Amino acid sequence: MRTFLVFCLAPVLLAAGSDWQSQGIVDDSHSPHARLHGVPIHAVKMGDGFWSARRAINVQKSIPTLLAELEEHGVVDNFLRLEGKKNVPRRGPLYTDSDIYKWMEAVAFVLQSGDQPKLRAEFDRLTGIIHDAQEPSGYLNTYWSGDRASQRFTEMYRSHELYCIGHLLQAAIAYYRATGNRKLLDVGIRFANYMVDNFGPTKRPALTGHPEFEMALVELYRTTGDRRYLDFAGYLLSGVERERLHLTGEQLVYLFSGKPFTSRTQFEGHAVRAMYASCGATDYYMETGDPAYLKTLETLWNDLVNRKMYITGGVGSREAGEAFGEPYELPNAQAYGESCAAIGNMMWNWRMLLALGESRFADVMERALYNGINSGMSLSGTLYCYRNPLESAGEKIRNPWYDTTCCPPNLERIFASLPGYLYSTSPKGVYVNLFHTSTLDWRLEDGTGIRIAQETDYPWKGTVNLTVDPAHAAEFSLFVRIPRWAEGTTVTGGGWSIRETPKPGEFFEIHRRWEPGDQVHVVFDMKPRLVRANPLVREDAGRVALERGPLVYCLERPDQLGFNLFDASLLDDGTSFGSDYQPDLLGGVLVLKHRGSVVDRPFSSEPLYQPFGVKVDRPGRVVALTFIPYYAWANRGPSDMEVWIPYVTAGEM
Ligand SMILES: [Zn+2]
Repeated sequence: MRTFLVFCLAPVLLAAGSDWQSQGIVDDSHSPHARLHGVPIHAVKMGDGFWSARRAINVQKSIPTLLAELEEHGVVDNFLRLEGKKNVPRRGPLYTDSDIYKWMEAVAFVLQSGDQPKLRAEFDRLTGIIHDAQEPSGYLNTYWSGDRASQRFTEMYRSHELYCIGHLLQAAIAYYRATGNRKLLDVGIRFANYMVDNFGPTKRPALTGHPEFEMALVELYRTTGDRRYLDFAGYLLSGVERERLHLTGEQLVYLFSGKPFTSRTQFEGHAVRAMYASCGATDYYMETGDPAYLKTLETLWNDLVNRKMYITGGVGSREAGEAFGEPYELPNAQAYGESCAAIGNMMWNWRMLLALGESRFADVMERALYNGINSGMSLSGTLYCYRNPLESAGEKIRNPWYDTTCCPPNLERIFASLPGYLYSTSPKGVYVNLFHTSTLDWRLEDGTGIRIAQETDYPWKGTVNLTVDPAHAAEFSLFVRIPRWAEGTTVTGGGWSIRETPKPGEFFEIHRRWEPGDQVHVVFDMKPRLVRANPLVREDAGRVALERGPLVYCLERPDQLGFNLFDASLLDDGTSFGSDYQPDLLGGVLVLKHRGSVVDRPFSSEPLYQPFGVKVDRPGRVVALTFIPYYAWANRGPSDMEVWIPYVTAGEM
């Protein structure tokens, strides 16, 4: 009741019918051009399984220790000094405000799964500090203050002013959806109003520089119903201000903003910016249905998936500019693959899944989540990767802190929000997007209560048992995603028959009159799969990668006995993979083994160049190669690692 009064007194009306307790990670429940609708995080309880240890450590270790790091590095003091409560110089790069906001969003997602009084108190304490640092105009940024206040909005291509406030809005909205408390939301609204009132085609020019604000604005529109925020997102995505802001061609490429989004034909420039811009553009499409956006989004998706994405779901090949490379430029050891970019890829594909309802988007989400995102946090929960290479000669890859610490809180918010990605709905029924032991306790779109219990040991085992419990017998469809790799999947009913055959890469629709307690059994074939890359990916020529289920595997030094893994090849001599679940290794992993060939004299003993055609005497021996899931590498100290393994047949040995 108290919350209701706050609503009535608030200056901005909330969108009709979308109460805060029913909103998903993105609230597309009223988006006219969304085919699927997210469910709230609290409607999904994740049980024991692959993600449970990770999610528990996220709450118990990662989130508290990262706050301590943020405070130690002055991120909170940067606000307190503006309020005269700390007499210290400002510290850190110009975008540190976003790091605390992203941490707060992670906390807010945790709170959506259930109250944690200590974390909630920290959130409220920080909200008070942030609130008090806001200027009466609504402006809020700890870097562009004091001596630098006169330079506000003069360097928008690099200033991160709107990037930071975008993250504040996302944290505020997530907290509002957890608690109904809108104190931080009102801070964000004051800044958003400041932008809308002072910037635009007939006012001062604006662009985001680092996209992020666009998707936050659309979410703010969804949360408040105030269309000005949606229109402002469209204005930013239109890139109309490139001339008034005198952007150079190089900046236009790099920023992925400042040029009309709908003029894009490929991914280029800074990978995280490109992913976040695509998130905002997809959100904008779901609200407006503008076909130019849909066309561009499809073009970009094909560019990414067919030419520029790592097998881990990581994106961004080059360290220089943290940028995309040319098509098929996918180096392994030099791969950038920033954790944030893989997260951006998942966030974008989630939006594409909601917009278009096609399973291929969930396939990319799953690829990124289990591999290129999951590798980003150590199993201990306190060390993070910024880069996620696919080959390593043993450099130190995991650290507790980075001066640019965008990735750690981003990983924390993804793990905290995970329940919200598992299921979705449409007017036709309910969708199972991802597989994990869990219960969905929600409603069909006609209002009928629905409970789905999912039991599985995925991704270690391929069996998924679903119990469907509508509040009363009802006719609707259950859609089960059949991953693209899952040839030979069987789906059977418990005591009733299913005639259709599931197709990999599609949602399998089971339409019937469901009785409470009806069961569906899904069995995926989890046999290991060798994968080769397009020949245009030069670095992967003559090599194979190993996948099993959604997991990409790698060779890491500690598991290879008596040889250097860079002297080894996978030996195809007709034998198959052995598998062994090892509960005490790396938090419990299924290890795969295969015969390999290792040269007796290391390659490094051969000259750099030799005449072609001269037979090289290269005696070898057969060894056992031991593969672990890629996400688990570098948890036993820095070590050699390889995803793409040279491949030889028995005759070539
Ligand atoms: Zn990052």
